[in-house]
Amino acid sequence: MTDERAQFPLLSSSVGKAPLVYLDNAATTQKPLCVLEALERYYRRVNANIHRGAHYLSRLATEQHEAARQTVAEFLHAASPREILFTSGTTAGINLVAQVLTSSFKPGDEILTTTDAHHSNIVPWQMLCERTGAVLRPIPLTPELRLDTAAYEQMLNPRTRLVAIPCVSNALGAAHPVQQMTAAAKRNRRDTLVLLDGAQSTAHQAVDVQALGCDFYVFSGHKIYAPTGTGALWGREELLEQLPPWQGGGEMIAEVSFAGTTYNKLPFKYEAGTPNIGGNIVLAEALRYVQRVGLERIAAREQALTRRLYDGLAALDGVQILGAREGRGALVSIVVPGVHHYDLGTLLDHMGIAVRTGHHCCQPLMASLGITGTTRYSLALYNNEDDVERALSATRRALDMLR
Ligand code: PMP
Repeated sequence: MTDERAQFPLLSSSVGKAPLVYLDNAATTQKPLCVLEALERYYRRVNANIHRGAHYLSRLATEQHEAARQTVAEFLHAASPREILFTSGTTAGINLVAQVLTSSFKPGDEILTTTDAHHSNIVPWQMLCERTGAVLRPIPLTPELRLDTAAYEQMLNPRTRLVAIPCVSNALGAAHPVQQMTAAAKRNRRDTLVLLDGAQSTAHQAVDVQALGCDFYVFSGHKIYAPTGTGALWGREELLEQLPPWQGGGEMIAEVSFAGTTYNKLPFKYEAGTPNIGGNIVLAEALRYVQRVGLERIAAREQALTRRLYDGLAALDGVQILGAREGRGALVSIVVPGVHHYDLGTLLDHMGIAVRTGHHCCQPLMASLGITGTTRYSLALYNNEDDVERALSATRRALDMLR
C-alpha cells in the first residue's frame, strides 16, 4: 500500500527542512488525487442547484448527488438510500438526532453516553436534557480504560431511552463492543434507541449498520479522505418516517401555504436548503477510493502499524500509554509525567511530525483520568513503517530535550 502515498500530494511536503510525517489523521485525513480531481471536475463541469431544475446541468447535478447517496448507503450497508441524510459531519448528525427526539422525551427519561465520548456526543444530549428534563448518565471505564460493560448493563433500566456510544474513542483509541452493547440496550427495551458515533471507525473498518442493530449511525467525510463539511447520518427508515423534521426551508416541504405546511418524503424531509452538492458527490468518490484500496487491507496494515507504534512508545522511558495494546483503533495516546503534551507536540512539529495534543474534545474523560491532555498519534491508510519509526525516534529525542 506504499503506492497509495503517491495519491496524496500533501504527504510529500515538508515542515521547514523536515519532510512531513502526518500522524493527525484522527483529526482529519489528507485527500487523494481522485478526490481533489472530482471536486474540481464537479465545479468545472457540473455545478448547478439540484432538484426541480428544468435544465441539463441541474439534472446532471441531481443525478450525481442522488447516486452519491446510493454509494453512501451501500458503504454503510443501509437498507435504502432513503435512510441516508447528508450532513456537514458527525457533530451535525448528532445534533440533528438530538433535536428531532425532543418531543419524544419526558422528564426522568435517561440517556447513556460514555465517559470517553467526544463533546459532540455529550453536549447535544445535555441540551436535549435541558429542553426535556431527561437525565444524561456517563457509562464508566474500567481501570484498563475499557468501557465497563457490566456497569453499563446495570445502568440500563426501563427509563433508558437512548444510548450513544463512540465505536472507537478518539482520545484513548479503545474500540468499544458496540454490537454487544446495542444488543444489551435492545434487550432492555426494544425501543431504547442506539446511536453509534462512527467518526473514528468508518475509515478503518467495514461497517454494516443493519448487522450492528443500531438506530442511528453518524460519520464525518473529512476523516475518510473527503472534504470538510461532508458526512452522513444513517437512521432506520421507520424511525425517520415517524420523527418530525428539524430545520424548515426549501426542499424539505411537500406543500407550503400560510394555512400550514406538509413535509417532503425521506430523505429530503431532513435536508432543508441547498446541500453541499459538490462535497456530497465527492464524499462518494472518497468512499469508492477506500473500497478500491479495500477496508480489509487497510485494517490489517493499520493494525500492524498501530502495534508497532504502541510497542515503540511503550519502550520509551517514562511514557504511559492510555489503554491496552489490543482492541484499539488506529491511534495511540500517551502521557509523559513531568512533560507537558503541548511542549512535546511543539518539538515534534519542529521535526516534521504532525500529532495532536490536548484534551481532544474529551474534557470529562481527561477529568476522570486527572490529566489535562495527551499526545495522540493517529494513522491512516497511507502511513508506513518509516513514518512510525521517524515518529518514535523524534519522540525519543524530544523527550530527551524536555527532561
Ligand atoms: N466523535 C468523535 C469520536 C470524533 O473523533 C470527532 C472528531 N474528532 C467527532 C465526533 C466530531 O466530528 P466532526 O468535528 O467532524 O463533526
